[in-house]
Amino acid sequence: MEPITVTRFAPSPTGALHLGNARTALFSFLLGRASGGRFILRIEDSDRGRGGPEFIVSQLADLAWLGLSWDAGPDRDDGRGPYRQSERGPIYDGLYEKLEFEGYAYPCYCTPLELDVARRAQLAASQPPRYPGTCRGLDSAARAARAAEGRQPALRFRVPDAGVIEFEDLVRGPQSVAAATLGDFVLRRADGGPMFFFCNAVDDSLMDVTQVLRGDDHLSNTPRQLLLLQALKMPVPRYGHLPLLLDASGAPLSKRRGSTTVGELRERGYLAAAVGNYLLRLGHTGAPDQWVEPAEFARNFSLDRLGRAPAHFDAAQLDHWQREAVRRLTPEQAVHWLDAELPADWSGQQRLEFAGLLQGNLLFPADTADWLPVLRGDLPPLTAEDSSVLAEAGPAFFEAALTAYHEVGADVGALGRELKQRTGRKGAALFMPLRIALTGRHDGPELAALLPAIPAALVRARLTGAARAH
Ligand code: GLU
Ligand code: ZN
Repeated sequence: MEPITVTRFAPSPTGALHLGNARTALFSFLLGRASGGRFILRIEDSDRGRGGPEFIVSQLADLAWLGLSWDAGPDRDDGRGPYRQSERGPIYDGLYEKLEFEGYAYPCYCTPLELDVARRAQLAASQPPRYPGTCRGLDSAARAARAAEGRQPALRFRVPDAGVIEFEDLVRGPQSVAAATLGDFVLRRADGGPMFFFCNAVDDSLMDVTQVLRGDDHLSNTPRQLLLLQALKMPVPRYGHLPLLLDASGAPLSKRRGSTTVGELRERGYLAAAVGNYLLRLGHTGAPDQWVEPAEFARNFSLDRLGRAPAHFDAAQLDHWQREAVRRLTPEQAVHWLDAELPADWSGQQRLEFAGLLQGNLLFPADTADWLPVLRGDLPPLTAEDSSVLAEAGPAFFEAALTAYHEVGADVGALGRELKQRTGRKGAALFMPLRIALTGRHDGPELAALLPAIPAALVRARLTGAARAH
């Protein structure tokens, strides 16, 4: 039997979830849980100096909002937890001990200053900087002497002197790195804190993760992580590295640079399904051109259609999917979506009517402000172009419209017939000046639906105004 696919998302709580992280999370989710496997969530908070618990809360909320539910995580242990690295210290301690006992790791007593001097010397000699191996061969007496000076050792991994580390990246294909270029790397800092790529690798293995999808920025960690897991004789996941997501200016999106976050999008009124449709096509080809329901994302996702070139954030594309998502809201969902923007004194029925009428013309809840005056207030000034349409129709047209409205009321079909008879106008020459006079703009929902929603007193005042002004 094929082993079950287990994927994960492993955010560090150093900021709010931005779109690049969200894409990585979505693709991992689709590859795992949504395809019948498991998807887990691990919080990489071993670096106690950075970030804070508020970011854990907000990232979990953002993932849940996007519909990326997890089978195990900080709030849901399945026996392989804890799912927060800050709570896994004892597990890491056991592994350090094993590595040191078996000779795969050794204590390094070098001070930051000594390491810096060595690094500068290497750079000056045009060599790539890497640990010079100072403490590799210390015997127990030499170690004891350094410990007696009060030096706290870091723990370093002993990288083989020769050999090539090879792996097949799920996105980028075959990779190979000569071990000699790596340098012995730190697993545990002198202050006892674990290093990121140590926890990251052993946790994936201990949590039975089979496929890791993550950002390109981690590609250079992978050979070290493979060596480490091999030394520990632990199962090794397959790794796939996604190209970065760049912002419009070509700079990488990053939490700390304050790039577009999922929370900001949600607050502006973007719908989760719109963000999902956008991300599904971001650096991933082959999804249909049309809207895909979130429940169908997994069926439209395939690892071998992930691109290798950086993807660019494109706000116009996102808005395209937003428009599609808004169109698909039920009236009840639409009311919920724009509720805060509607007048407090409106009844449930009025809210439903407004949403039903204008849903197709709103991209964000805040766009409601463009339409409320049409239904119950003063219209903003006309554009010059719209104004000239009214001037061309002339006062007699609007006087006729006023009379016709008196006679037939808000039935636009009847109103049109009546006006045609009285003025000889028809089609756009009839309906466009009427629309502009009544709504203050030349676009919007069907006039037939809109007119009955405008109070009669306002209709009369607007037609009278148009007759006087032009
Ligand atoms: N905690 C890492 C990050 O946020 C995740 C690395 C990984 O996915 O392996 O970049
Ligand atoms: Zn050293």
